[in-house]
Amino acid sequence: MGCYGVFSKFSRRGKFFALLIFSLMVVAWIATYSGDTVKRTAALPTLTQNALTKYKLKVNFEALTSSPSDLNAAQKHPCPDTSPLLKGSVNLTFPALKLKDVEMENPDVSRGEFQPPNCTARQSVAILIPHRNREKHLLYLLHHLHPFLQRQQLHYAIYIIQQTSDATFNRAKLLNIGYLEALKDFNWDCFVFHDVDLVPENDHNLYICDKHPKHLVVGRNVTGYKLRYKGYFGGVTALSREQFLKVNGFSNTYWGWGGEDDDLRIRVQLQKMEILRPPADVARYTMVFHKRDSGNQINKDRMKLLAQTPKVWRTDGLNSCSYKTVSLERLPLYVNVTVDVGKPER
Ligand code: BGC
Repeated sequence: MGCYGVFSKFSRRGKFFALLIFSLMVVAWIATYSGDTVKRTAALPTLTQNALTKYKLKVNFEALTSSPSDLNAAQKHPCPDTSPLLKGSVNLTFPALKLKDVEMENPDVSRGEFQPPNCTARQSVAILIPHRNREKHLLYLLHHLHPFLQRQQLHYAIYIIQQTSDATFNRAKLLNIGYLEALKDFNWDCFVFHDVDLVPENDHNLYICDKHPKHLVVGRNVTGYKLRYKGYFGGVTALSREQFLKVNGFSNTYWGWGGEDDDLRIRVQLQKMEILRPPADVARYTMVFHKRDSGNQINKDRMKLLAQTPKVWRTDGLNSCSYKTVSLERLPLYVNVTVDVGKPER
């Protein structure tokens, strides 16, 4: 019996309704099918390597695609406001480790990225860590940070931005590059700018962004867990994609140790934004001991530079960040971006 045969059993009115319901079912089926097709085509864009010299800041946020691991997001319910997996303050240990051990501890991290398996994360967060010759610290940080972020039920990826060459270290420029490179992968909501030697002690210190920029390090073990000074904005900070763009990112002109974090605070204040901090008993970090790195000497010019910030921030920052990408590798636990940032001008 064909379709018509089925309909012939009903009255004219009955037939009309049966036909209407059938048509609606067909339309619904077509809509589901095409929605799925659109999602599946949203693959990660390929990253241009060795190409970028001057990145003109015209990121079209709307056009950025979703990550493939986002495909099932629509089927999941949102993760709760407070993750049931949080442990609070933990006693950190620093055992001898190999990268392979940390990879085995984190089977659900792939190519540096993680999605909570059973719910849709409240925010997608890129963790940016500037780095040069600090392998031991990096290993400790990865060992603690991956489980910490997973307990917070975040969708996140870790980017390590490595500076090549012996030129003086430029933390701020590496972080600008991390922001620009990470946005080629995914339209991250939030960016956490993270020193490699600071390990968070309490997972209630949430790595998510807020209405205003956040400073996550109130206290460190080495300074008696006290805020270093009122305007201190160093170590670990969280700014949303828009907040960081609004201040034109970090300055690119701070070579060596110090000042770049104070410069970012001035940019934030110039935009009339506040700085938020979690409670002191939560925003606690252990600093892994190290001597001052060679190639990262104290920047004696930093006070002079800070005096210039209100005049130069519009033209010195994300929109003037020139660099060369030497390589980009997607390792199991992080995206490893190696860049040539150039040298100080003088
Ligand atoms: C530097 C900052 C640094 C702070 C705390 C300041 O003098 O300019 O970059 O974070 O000291 O050590």
